[in-house]
Amino acid sequence: MPELPELELLRIKLAEFLVGRSIIAVVVDPRRQVVLRYPPADFARDVTGREFAAVERHGKFLEFAFKDGGARLIVNPMLGGRFAFCTRAAPELPSTCFTLQLTGAMDVRLLDAVQMARVYLTDDPAQDIQSYSDTGPDALDPALTFEEFERRLKRHRGEIKNALRNQAFVAGIGNAYSDEILFAARIRPLRRASTLKPDERRTLYDAMRSTLAHAVETVRSRYAAGKHPLHKQDRSFLRIHAKNKTACPRCGHRISSIHSGGETTYFCRGCQL
Ligand SMILES: [Zn+2]
Repeated sequence: MPELPELELLRIKLAEFLVGRSIIAVVVDPRRQVVLRYPPADFARDVTGREFAAVERHGKFLEFAFKDGGARLIVNPMLGGRFAFCTRAAPELPSTCFTLQLTGAMDVRLLDAVQMARVYLTDDPAQDIQSYSDTGPDALDPALTFEEFERRLKRHRGEIKNALRNQAFVAGIGNAYSDEILFAARIRPLRRASTLKPDERRTLYDAMRSTLAHAVETVRSRYAAGKHPLHKQDRSFLRIHAKNKTACPRCGHRISSIHSGGETTYFCRGCQL
């Protein structure tokens, strides 16, 4: 599942490709129109002729704004949603859900073999999309101050890892980056949020910001160097996540893992308290 750093790279690349281009035609595959949360028959009519002005991100949602300021295209890629930017002549892959034909004989296509992505067209996402309105502030939102983070954290009594992954608390963090943030903060994932002392809450907030900001920069530079594919989560540079049976890079203790609900949590018993 993509998390904030990978989605931020995707947002940047989509903006570079799309801003200034207009949609001249739309092709929806009726066998894959389940991804559209908008009447498929109206979708083509309501986006054709519009020019992209910006691509923004709200947690795990990508938001495409148009120059006319009207309804925005909002995509939650979920597990399988991928974008292809290509020439009109490029062969169409079988998992293509829809194609936006753009000026300059270019296409942007939404691919999803498992059809879990969700696509909306709305001028009021907070009203029209339940999972969007439930989403808390983005973990890198400048408006998310420590005071606001701490205030929101007080609502969570359970394990701190689950709070960090809860999109209603802060948005954009999943299984991998919650491990990295807790490692940076030297806090064990299974600690109850309510047991964190004030200085630990501050450390956690700072670790969240610095870990994610650093990951965005790392993913961007690895992509620029041809080492990071746009849609695969290359997380080989992470410090603790998926580093089972290796030594902790900070204290040398063997890294521990816990399996639960089909996911694995990684942490160090030597230096996380
Ligand atoms: Zn350690």
